[in-house]
Amino acid sequence: MAERLSPGDTIGILGGGQLGRMLATAAARLGLKTHIFAPETDNPAFDVCAAKTVAAYDNEAALQAFAEAVDVVTYEFENIPAHTAELLAALRPVRPGPAALAASQDRLTEKDFLNDLGIATAPYRSVEDAGALARAVGELGRPSILKTRRLGYDGKGQVTIREGSDLGAIFRGLGGAPSILEGFVPFTKEVSVIAARGLDGAFAAYDVTENVHANHILSVSRAPAKIDADCAAAAMATARKIAEALDYIGILAVELFVTDEPDENGRLVQTIRVNEIAPRVHNSGHWTLDSAICSQFEQHIRAIAGWPLGTTRRHGAAVEMRNLIGDDANAYDAILREPGACLHLYGKAEARPGRKMGHVTRVLDHDG
Ligand code: AMP
Repeated sequence: MAERLSPGDTIGILGGGQLGRMLATAAARLGLKTHIFAPETDNPAFDVCAAKTVAAYDNEAALQAFAEAVDVVTYEFENIPAHTAELLAALRPVRPGPAALAASQDRLTEKDFLNDLGIATAPYRSVEDAGALARAVGELGRPSILKTRRLGYDGKGQVTIREGSDLGAIFRGLGGAPSILEGFVPFTKEVSVIAARGLDGAFAAYDVTENVHANHILSVSRAPAKIDADCAAAAMATARKIAEALDYIGILAVELFVTDEPDENGRLVQTIRVNEIAPRVHNSGHWTLDSAICSQFEQHIRAIAGWPLGTTRRHGAAVEMRNLIGDDANAYDAILREPGACLHLYGKAEARPGRKMGHVTRVLDHDG
C-alpha cells in the first residue's frame, strides 16, 4: 500500500455525519474519492460520496470489504471501537493512528497522557464507585464536574456537583460508569487550536479560535481569539507537543480553558489548561471553509493522503461562525439574502432540538 495517495485514489471515512460530508467534499475537490462506512441509513455524507457501506462497526466482513476498497482509512468521530480500528489497521493505513484514538477515547487516559507530557489540565481524580466520588469531592471541592470516562459529548455523561448535591444519586444517575471528577476551572474564555501534522512531520495551525457554548453545545466560534500573543503562542505550542507525542497525521483539535492567574509579581497573566483533544476535524474549525486559504477539511485530506500541508492563512480581519441548531436552520432564507453570509446546510431531514443542522460564517472586515 502506497504511503502517498494519487489523484483518483479512495479515502475511507468511518462515520457519515456533517464532518464526513465536508471531508468528502474537500476530497472531491482534490480529485480523490470517498467511501463512507456508517451504521445509519440516512447520513449527511451519503449525498456527496462515491461509495457507501451501511453496516455496524463490529461487522468484520463489511469492514474487510471496506478496507479492500479504499487506500487509506480515516474517521470523523473518536469513539471507534478499538477492535474495529485494529482490524482496519491490519489491512490499510489508519490516519490518525491508534495512539490518537487511545489518548482521546477515555478522559482518564487523556488527562494522564497530557499531564505526563507536562501539559496542564483541570485537577482530576479517577472515580470507580460512590466512595471514591466522596473522597474526590473532599479533595477537589465544589463546584466540581463528574464526567464519564468514555462516550461523553455535548455535555452528555456529565454532571456538576454543587453544595448540597447528593453524590450517591449523581453517581447512580451516570449509570455507575467509570468516571473522573474534575476540579472546576474558573475560565475567562474557552479557546481551541485546530492544528495539522503531515506524514512528513510538517506542522501547521490555524489562528486560535474563541468558542462560546450554549446548553453544552458549541454556539459561536470567533477567530482570531482575543487573547494575549503569549497565550496564543502557548496554545499552539501545546497542540504541537501533543501532535508530535502521538506521531499524529491529520487534523487535531485541542480545546483549552484560559484563566487569569497571578505570576511571581502578582500580575495576572492568561494561562491555558487543556480541556480535551479530538483526533479529527472539529466544529470550532468550520470557519476555515470560508476564511482560510486551505480549510481544515482540505488540510485533513492532504495530511492523510501524504500530501504537503496547505497554508492556514486567514482572509478578513476576523471571522465568526454560528451553528444552526434545531429550528435555527429555518432562517436559511434570511441568511441567503444577507450579503457576505456563507450558509452551510448539512442536508438533515429532521430538525430535532439540539441537532446541528448547519452553520453560517461571516468574514468580517473589522476585528469583531
Ligand atoms: P466537555 O464535554 O469536557 O468539553 O465539557 C463541556 C463544557 O463544560 C466545556 O466546554 C466547559 O464549558 C464546561 N466544563 C467542562 N469541564 C470543566 C471544568 N473542569 N471546569 C469548568 N468548566 C468545565
